[in-house]
Amino acid sequence: MRVKRMAEAIVVGGGVMGLASARELRRRGYSVTLLDRAQPGRAASWASAGIIGATLRDESDPQHALRRLSRQLWPAFAAAVHEESGLDPEYREMGCIQLATTEDELDWLQRAAKQADEAAFLDAAQLRQEEPALADDLPGGLKVPGGNVDNRRLCRALEISIRRAGVTMLTGTEVRALKTSGGRVTGVTTNEAPLDAELVILAAGAWSATIDGVRPRPPVVPQKGQIFALDQSRVGLRHVLLTPGDPYFVPRADGRLVIGATREEAGWDPSLTAGGIAWLLNRAMRVVPSLSGCPILELWTGFRPLSEDGLPLIGRAAVDGLYFLTGHGPSGIAPLPGSVALLMALIDGTEPPIAPAAFDPLRFS
Ligand SMILES: Cc1cc2nc3c(=O)[nH]c(=O)nc-3n(C[C@H](O)[C@H](O)[C@H](O)COP(=O)(O)OP(=O)(O)OC[C@H]3O[C@@H](n4cnc5c(N)ncnc54)[C@H](O)[C@@H]3O)c2cc1C
Repeated sequence: MRVKRMAEAIVVGGGVMGLASARELRRRGYSVTLLDRAQPGRAASWASAGIIGATLRDESDPQHALRRLSRQLWPAFAAAVHEESGLDPEYREMGCIQLATTEDELDWLQRAAKQADEAAFLDAAQLRQEEPALADDLPGGLKVPGGNVDNRRLCRALEISIRRAGVTMLTGTEVRALKTSGGRVTGVTTNEAPLDAELVILAAGAWSATIDGVRPRPPVVPQKGQIFALDQSRVGLRHVLLTPGDPYFVPRADGRLVIGATREEAGWDPSLTAGGIAWLLNRAMRVVPSLSGCPILELWTGFRPLSEDGLPLIGRAAVDGLYFLTGHGPSGIAPLPGSVALLMALIDGTEPPIAPAAFDPLRFS
């Protein structure tokens, strides 16, 4: 690792992407300031369900390599953040089951099982053994490695870790524009005093397109998700369960069951709607009928940072010293350690751990 002592770096945004990249820059010896317009870890990274490594993807999809790398990195990453902060982010590999709800979906899963590593096809009886609470008419499923992290605990743990490491964190500080000179970053202007830096990481999530002077302007828009949690102590689901077209079911260590989520183009409207929650509840109870007796603990919404082509923007922008780490959309917890490792290799000028081209922000120049 090349150590660049005391160069000033600014990270814009305190979601998982900003927090984890601030941590890595600090480890490299940068003097790091993280700015958040509100509170760190309270936007998409708080709203998320925290599913890791569940989706079946084909090898030609660039996200496949990013997810595979991230799955390798997750255990050590979670353990390090736990140790540094004293707070367990509750990363748990309980396995994910992709459920079939029709015979056609079952055929598809059977074919996918032959191609995927470490996937186990489950017929109806085996499925019931793994998850007795599932509806009787589900024809089968595919069990794949994976699990979840408690994303809210992860954000808090990362925040504690980087504060202890000496990252300066300014909350309620909104970055308005990038400062440049001769095509190079010199800092940012904010709603308070301007700040100088040689390196700026844009990790502002769904708000990434709102900062002046950023080139290329990241084509990232908010995608709203409505999501809720039940007390499932009387149901006892053990795996992350996924259904085609959602909902998904995420059992937490504390007995909560997170069920999500809608995918809506609704601008910045954060409201919970009767239609959105009814859609989730009805579909969820069709898959796990006994959920109908579970107390509702919480309902909330969040904005996923959705990019134009569905792939994240990771790497150097069109201004020297400016890097992007944004646009992760519906999957921005699972690929966290891999995305940060790729970005750091690009900043360090070392061999990237995966091919970076598909994620290059300059594809939008
Ligand atoms: C309902 C829902 C469920 C999800 N479930 C999953 C899942 O199961 N698995 C998964 O992998 N992913 C999931 N995701 C996606 C994942 O949560 C996101 O992709 C990820 O959290 C994005 O992280 P981020 O750091 O880029 O953005 P955010 O967490 O949104 O953080 C951006 C931060 O930037 C700050 N900011 C914005 N503008 C400025 C500015 N101008 N100046 C200073 N600060 C600024 C904001 O205040 C915010 O704190 C889900 C998302 C949602 C909404």
